[in-house]
Amino acid sequence: MKNDTKCVRAGYEPGNGEPRQIPIIQSTTFRYTTSEEMGQLFDLEKAGYFYTRLQNPTNDTVAARITALEGGIAGMLTSSGQAANFFAVFNICSAGDHFVSAASIYGGTFNLFAVTMKKMGIECTFVDQDASEEEISKAFRPNTKCLFGETVSNPGVKVLDIEKMAKIAHAHGVPLIIDNTFPTPVNCRPIEWGCDIVTHSTTKYMDGHGMQVGGCIVDSGNFDFAAYGDKFPGLNTPDDSYHGIVYTEKFGKAAYITKATAQLMRDFGAIQSPQNAFYLSIGLETLHLRMPKHCANARKMAEYLSSNSEVEWVSYPGLESDKYHKLAEKYCPNGTCGVICFGLKGGRERTMKFMDSLKLVRIYTHVADSQSCMLHPASHTHRQLTDEQLRDAGIDPSLIRFSVGIEDIDDILGDVDQAIKATK
Ligand SMILES: *Cc1c(COP(=O)(O)O)cnc(C)c1O
Repeated sequence: MKNDTKCVRAGYEPGNGEPRQIPIIQSTTFRYTTSEEMGQLFDLEKAGYFYTRLQNPTNDTVAARITALEGGIAGMLTSSGQAANFFAVFNICSAGDHFVSAASIYGGTFNLFAVTMKKMGIECTFVDQDASEEEISKAFRPNTKCLFGETVSNPGVKVLDIEKMAKIAHAHGVPLIIDNTFPTPVNCRPIEWGCDIVTHSTTKYMDGHGMQVGGCIVDSGNFDFAAYGDKFPGLNTPDDSYHGIVYTEKFGKAAYITKATAQLMRDFGAIQSPQNAFYLSIGLETLHLRMPKHCANARKMAEYLSSNSEVEWVSYPGLESDKYHKLAEKYCPNGTCGVICFGLKGGRERTMKFMDSLKLVRIYTHVADSQSCMLHPASHTHRQLTDEQLRDAGIDPSLIRFSVGIEDIDDILGDVDQAIKATK
């Protein structure tokens, strides 16, 4: 199947007389007629469902669709993008370990890595993703367990050089984990460029309709965890909670994702509800139609903004003049996403006036939605910070994150234009 077909069809094949739609198995538990059968499931001797905190058929069907889109071997849905990124790293890191991440990542992920995981004894070194291989390599230590980045970063819309990052990670015997939320597998499939594990906040384009928070992890199966036994003891030594099974021996290429389900979901329980997984599947059915429209609208908007003399700066990888245009052409030839960053002349006050003058474009703490929306971190999410503190945190005080939706572009352009004029 090609990717457009996968969006609509992958993961679910109804049999004779079975429903066209993915059944919502809204059940906590599953019945077995003998203790023996149930026991085998608990020993991971057999695959099957027994309790939805570990696995649920609806969730597995939707995870299989995303896995097919990304070109992986197995996937797992999580309750949020935050849970996906936490599990993706924590599955191979424990207290005393270290990992390396691009510095330009989503604020929530940055806080998770820099503050919360540090409290758990896991240290993260942040690197400039545009630095050379030699420079980034300096951040690695003997106890480094993975390299992390975002294909197209939120909010900076920086494009990651995936092949370079994969080369660095593999030279140090660790997997590359990439958050592919912004381009989605419609516009970029990181596994094809050497990435080992892909994560998503499905809350964004995949859902697309602002309905429900969710996440996903997809395992390529390509990283050979068994080849680095000392580095990844969790995958290569017996798990006493399952009668001493060794994940790499028992599950081979699926060792990583099986451990994430069998241990992390079991213990942390950050599951997506089957009802939400169903909503997500409805979003996925049109992802391949929405992404090109987001990209086409964003490109026109970025061109308009860069030609407006009231606009101080614009970042959008789809613009030929953008610093990341070359990387975008390589990794996302059909477009990156609908998110643009820009700054108006005239500081915070004018920006707030501009935002308040918008009539169609909405102010949401959200991004990558079918409705156009904007966020001004300096007056919304980060309003307690001074301009100087904002700059220290890598956020330009003038930065507006503009998530261009799939309305008619003339309506969106007209609204932005009238709002800019209203601030003069
Ligand atoms: C929103 C977002 C997250 C966090 O996802 P939630 O679903 O809000 O928990 C992680 N990464 C990126 C790139 C995001 O945009």
